[in-house]
Amino acid sequence: MNDLKMNGVSDENLKDGLSLDELFEKGDGLTYNDFLLLPGFIDFTADDVNLKSPLTRNLTLNAPLISSPMDTVTESDMAISMALCGGIGIIHHNCTPDYQANEVLKVKKYKHGFIRDPMVMSPNATVADVLEAKRKNGFTGYPITENGKLGGKLVGIVTSRDIDFREKDVSLKLAEVMTKVEDMVTAQKGIKLQQANEILEKSKKGKLPIINQNGELVALIARTDLKKARIYPNASKDSNKQLLVGAAIGTRDDDKIRLKLLVEAGVDVVVLDSSQGNSSFQMQMIRFIKSTYPELQVIAGNVVTRAQAKNLIDAGCDGLRVGMGSGSICITQEVMACGCPQATAVYQVSSYARKFGIPVIADGGIQNIGHIMKALSLGASAVMMGSLLAGTSEAPGDYFFSDGVRLKKYRGMGSLEAMERKDAKGAAMSRYYHTEIDKLRVAQGVSGNIVDKGSVLRFLPYLECGIQHSCQDIGARSLAHLNEMTYAGELRFMKRTHSAQAEGNVHSLFSYEKRLF
Ligand code: GDP
Ligand code: 5GP
Repeated sequence: MNDLKMNGVSDENLKDGLSLDELFEKGDGLTYNDFLLLPGFIDFTADDVNLKSPLTRNLTLNAPLISSPMDTVTESDMAISMALCGGIGIIHHNCTPDYQANEVLKVKKYKHGFIRDPMVMSPNATVADVLEAKRKNGFTGYPITENGKLGGKLVGIVTSRDIDFREKDVSLKLAEVMTKVEDMVTAQKGIKLQQANEILEKSKKGKLPIINQNGELVALIARTDLKKARIYPNASKDSNKQLLVGAAIGTRDDDKIRLKLLVEAGVDVVVLDSSQGNSSFQMQMIRFIKSTYPELQVIAGNVVTRAQAKNLIDAGCDGLRVGMGSGSICITQEVMACGCPQATAVYQVSSYARKFGIPVIADGGIQNIGHIMKALSLGASAVMMGSLLAGTSEAPGDYFFSDGVRLKKYRGMGSLEAMERKDAKGAAMSRYYHTEIDKLRVAQGVSGNIVDKGSVLRFLPYLECGIQHSCQDIGARSLAHLNEMTYAGELRFMKRTHSAQAEGNVHSLFSYEKRLF
């Protein structure tokens, strides 16, 4: 393919830069910014680059992207979007076990285009109730069932057309204004999205209630969703065609109860969430999970050294999460004096774990596509992101304005604010707050804000397209090929001095605008 033998010069003489091992041979701690990848030979298009990559021993992603188990990053909305785009979301555990299991269930039950838990009203509700619900939820289409609940017998529907011009008569019962079930178009449970689409197109209606054989409401399809419905051919799915989802847990005895609920909800992989994973607690938890739920995949961590990785691999984990102190909200290295620069950590653990077929997730410190590529080129098979995803509309939390800028909150799970969470979802986490006798908390993270990034459904395709282009520059046709190149010494690296880093950034301009996609 890439024939370097020209004019009698051997391949070796044309290898500029350093191999992976040479890059790290001095033992310095390197970050992603300290080196670059040298370009290779292109004989394929960027579209052709295959982004499949292992997540664990038994699970494969179609894109190497994972959202972090943080309470300002991943709940069901984020996890659904991550999986639709070929990655996976890990639901955080700074909440009650029931809440977390329900978030997992929402992802597993998700069916593209179907609203599984539509808001339903009773025939005795009034026009005023619809107007109030519209103000709160933003939509006016409510199916009406006998008991006013999902699963009740469908008797009608109210839509904006039924309540237009009724503002003067808001006490009217919905039974009087609704379109009755005899006059409605409905579809039976089990219908495919394509067929539903055709029915809505023919009937010109805005909503299609889905009912079972007894006429009870099970779901709703909205025409607006079908119009904007995109196809996600790369979605990460299990053998039942349901989206993949992960969840984080701790290593205390209580977590076994949490785990049971998560397994019942259908979780595909659990992440043992600890900032220093090399502990007897974690090893015991891995063994417990492997003997109790042999099918369940377990990602252990976090680790940054080979010795840490060895213990968790020996205990039977299926994947490793790498990073200590490199996260954007993190103050571990400053407070604990413990950690490792992230590029070195990824290199160390990946080169050891590959001997056992254990995939590595590079967790924390990912600021852009270049960092993702560097993590992958050091042997990681996927990256985990917090700050990069936190400002998107799918991240939990509401937007707010500060000095005219639209922001969302993003906080470290080891920040005092997160550790002291006391709201409806709340349950203090154990990742940073080790034992009952830890009366005085030592924060390992901060709390801050991130600028609005729009929807992840637009942002992830941008990341994926960027990775494909970068692979093309390097001459890697797939992430599997990139990994082969890394360990064959074919992928060439080069260290960057401070001035090289300055040269590689925008410079010499009076002002500029940086738009990324
Ligand atoms: P409507 O005609 O005012 O009900 O609004 P549209 O059908 O134009 O838009 C409703 C949007 O809200 C769609 O994107 C739905 O998927 C979304 N949605 C989320 N939950 C519900 C729900 O419980 N009921 C309805 N009607 N829409 C919902
Ligand atoms: P980011 O993508 O924002 O750079 O980093 C996210 C990662 O930081 C998470 O996946 C997690 O591993 C780590 N992290 C989350 N919260 C905290 C915290 O409070 N302290 C520390 N040390 N790390 C955190």
